[in-house]
Amino acid sequence: MNILRLEVPHWEQFDGLVHGFLGRFGSQGRPPDDPFRLSCDNGDDVQAVKRNWCELKLAIGLRDINIITAKQVHGNIVLKVARGDEKLAGIGDGLMTDAPNLCVGVMAADCVPLLFVEPARKIVAAVHAGWRGTAAGIAPRAIALMRETYRVDPAALHVAMGPSIGPCCYEVGPEVAAQIAANWSAELKYAWKPDGVKGRLDLRALNEAQLLGAGMLGSHIQKIGPCTACHIGDFFSYRKEGKSGHQLSFIGWRSQP
Ligand SMILES: [Zn+2]
Repeated sequence: MNILRLEVPHWEQFDGLVHGFLGRFGSQGRPPDDPFRLSCDNGDDVQAVKRNWCELKLAIGLRDINIITAKQVHGNIVLKVARGDEKLAGIGDGLMTDAPNLCVGVMAADCVPLLFVEPARKIVAAVHAGWRGTAAGIAPRAIALMRETYRVDPAALHVAMGPSIGPCCYEVGPEVAAQIAANWSAELKYAWKPDGVKGRLDLRALNEAQLLGAGMLGSHIQKIGPCTACHIGDFFSYRKEGKSGHQLSFIGWRSQP
């Protein structure tokens, strides 16, 4: 099985951290256009999805670690998860945990996957932020909840934003900009380029502005990987392909022996 896995070079220093932004992947004996789905949201066969998860975890060397995801709905709910929780934690677009030997993960195909880590306390979170989730402020909400739940200082957090649709390919209508501007007008200035009636939205720049506003340090914010719609050979893109598969992004800590 071939998997494209992007990691944050700077995070090698965090001993025991496991993470990755995965790309499109396939496996032997499967047609090349088989999307290898990891969720049943599009009516996929439950057993096939289960087998895909097993194959994937084996290929990335995480057979012994649970990857917990949620049913994503483009909202701003962030779930706290612990060892022993169901593989599908519930409805939400973000998950956080302080438990070792457990990964939290989000699925995306153009939306921004954000992976957070607080290396001293070993807290992690994964967030899925499309324009609706970003308008609802899911990234700053995840920070607020980590602060409240685990006493995490935002300045001690690191975050990486993975492959997602870039402003090169993300044309949206003025109604989208208006909904974002309702709560994030200052932040939107960094991320919106008007182009006729419509405009181009830079979702990662918008999230970055929100993260800075929530107290994170600029030097702790990284962007990993390219525009998904420009690179559909490597990544799923909903905008480019319509009903596409999703790529997984995950993060967690292995407990030290
Ligand atoms: Zn592009």
